[in-house]
This record gives sequence, structure tokens and C-alpha cells, in this order.
Amino acid sequence: MKRTFNFSAGPAGLPTRVLEQAQSELLDWKGLGTSVMEISHRDKRVVAMFESAQARVRSLLAVPDDYAVLFLQGGATAMFDLIPVNLGARRIHVLNTGAWSEKAIKGAQKHAQVEVTGQAPYTDVPELGPVAGVDYLHYCHNETIHGVRVGDIGRHAVPVVCDASSSIFAEPIDWTQHDLVYGGAQKNLGPSGVTLVIAKRRLLSADTGLAGVFDFAKQDAADSMVNTPPVFGVYLIEKVLEWIEDEGGVDAMQQRSIDRAEALYHAIDQSDFYSNPVAPHARSRMNVPFLLADPALEDRFAQQAEQAGLMFLKGHRSVGGMRASLYNALPMQAVPALVQFMSEFEAKNG
Ligand code: PMP
Repeated sequence: MKRTFNFSAGPAGLPTRVLEQAQSELLDWKGLGTSVMEISHRDKRVVAMFESAQARVRSLLAVPDDYAVLFLQGGATAMFDLIPVNLGARRIHVLNTGAWSEKAIKGAQKHAQVEVTGQAPYTDVPELGPVAGVDYLHYCHNETIHGVRVGDIGRHAVPVVCDASSSIFAEPIDWTQHDLVYGGAQKNLGPSGVTLVIAKRRLLSADTGLAGVFDFAKQDAADSMVNTPPVFGVYLIEKVLEWIEDEGGVDAMQQRSIDRAEALYHAIDQSDFYSNPVAPHARSRMNVPFLLADPALEDRFAQQAEQAGLMFLKGHRSVGGMRASLYNALPMQAVPALVQFMSEFEAKNG
């Protein structure tokens, strides 16, 4: 069996241990002679598995008791529309740091008046003055396409909502600064199809007019089982969370992500052949976009990288170039292997 180094931006690589566990339980979960996919979500073992997943989220991220932890569907994209409605927002301020902030703005504009700080080119985090007179401030903690990370959003007089799709579980969350944090599972947490929402309960509107599956307060009351939930996705998430615990928790994930990112940015910065346009203090630890001196070499780079077992390095179609995504499950040997490949490629083509 060959596992390659997976630099995909998402859906992304999962820990090999988790995949092996799932494989070994696929025909017989808990002695039932059937997989977890094939039984009722109301079965007490499935309910216990959901409770365990929620408890692991709470403990790994130190989530306060007055926050709901929800496993929803629709992806982070659905949340761009659902969060304004669930928080009953009329006015929203968005810190715009890249392509995903732009999508959050478009979603919010359908439901509320939206003020924006920040614009292209997304190479730094804009200065954000005091935010007032809005129902909440929204920001994207890690811009997956532009490779921009908001290190510290600061304290604000209004509630703060954070899209953490591509950085959740890669660093601790300061709950004194955040009222709602959400993200699709398919980067650091599990397969696509599950969206994690962690929200301060008292902010949730009791009367959204939404279908129950999209209503955060109703989903909270039903332990994320208003209807048939994405059971297999939550089953894998529960195992990924257990893996994070065994590896030393979110602090250990953070240290690894700092080490991986530093090694790759160092290689980029000390070369004239590769470049990254983002201000050093605003650089993502999860997604490292980089350009080659000659864009005509991009296809060759990606092709030869694949031959060396370094997969999915092409940048997002909207910005071009290359991108290495360094999520939690990426083995530590992956970045040194990439750096060595980059240096050899530069020597041959530079
Ligand atoms: N926000 C960010 C930061 C993302 O990276 C993505 C997906 N790459 C999304 C939102 C959208 O997620 P989904 O496809 O789950 O809707």
C-alpha cells in the first residue's frame, strides 16, 4: 500500500490511523455485524457516538457550557446565509481578507446590510477600527485561497463570528473573543458533508422561520438530530478528534503547523525562483500559495511533484500558481520532502 503526501486544500488527507480503524469496522461495528452507516441514527450506540464527538469538540477546544456544538449539513457556504438568519441580524460588519470573506459578504447581503473593511489584493490583514452599531462582526480566520491568516481579531463591543473552515483544530480558540465559530469538516476534521457550528446559545434566534434542519436552536435542542444526520461523517470526525487527543491535542497541532509553515516559507523566501506575496505576519500556516518565476513551468512542476509522491499542489483556479495545504493530518516528513523537491526543480529549471 502506498500513501502519498497529500497537499490538497480540501477535501484533504485524513490520518492513516483513522482510515484503518474505519476500514476494520466497516463490516462489523461494535459487534453488530453491520457498519455504522447501515443502522438507525436513533440507535443508542449512534447517539452515544454523537455525544462522544460533541464531548471531544468541547474538551479539545475548551468550549464554554453556554455554547451549542452542532453537526450540520450544507457546508460553510450554507452558513454564509444561515448565520445572519439564525442570529436575526440586520446589520453586519465583515473583515474582508480574501475570496471566502467575499462569499460570506454575498451570503450576508441577502439578509442584512453589510459594511466591509478590506479589499483586494489580499496580501495583508486590513486595520480594523472599533466596530459598533452592527449585530455582529464576521471574519475568516484563514483564507484558504489567498493564504491570509488573521492572527488576533481582538476584543469587540459586538459579537464576533468566525469562519474557521480551514484552521479549526489547528490552534486554540479564545472564547472571550468569539461568539460563533464554524467550519466545513473536510480540511482538519473529517470528510465533507458535515459542518461544525459552535455558537453562544443566547444569540440564537428562537424564531428564524427556517426549516428545522437549518435552525441552530432547534438543532441544539435535538442534539443535531432534527432529521437523519450525516452519521458516517460524524463517525469519522469522532475518530479524528480522538487522534488529535492522542497526538497531544490542539496545542500540539498548533506547534506542528507552525513548524511546517516556517520550513516552507523559509524555503520560498530564500529562493529567487519561488515567491509568496503575503506579508509575513499575515501568512497562513495552513495554506501556502506560491508562484514560480516562470508561470509556464507550473504544469511541469505539478506533474513532476506527483511523480515524486507530492500530490495536489496546483493553486486554486481563481489565483493560479501553486498551493501547499498543510493540514493537521499531513505527516511531518511531507514538508521536508516538498522543500527538497522544490530545490531540485529550481536547480533544473531556474
Ligand atoms: N470558508 C473557507 C475558509 C473555505 O476554505 C471553504 C471551502 N474551501 C468554505 C468556506 C466553503 O466550504 P464548503 O465547501 O464546505 O461550503
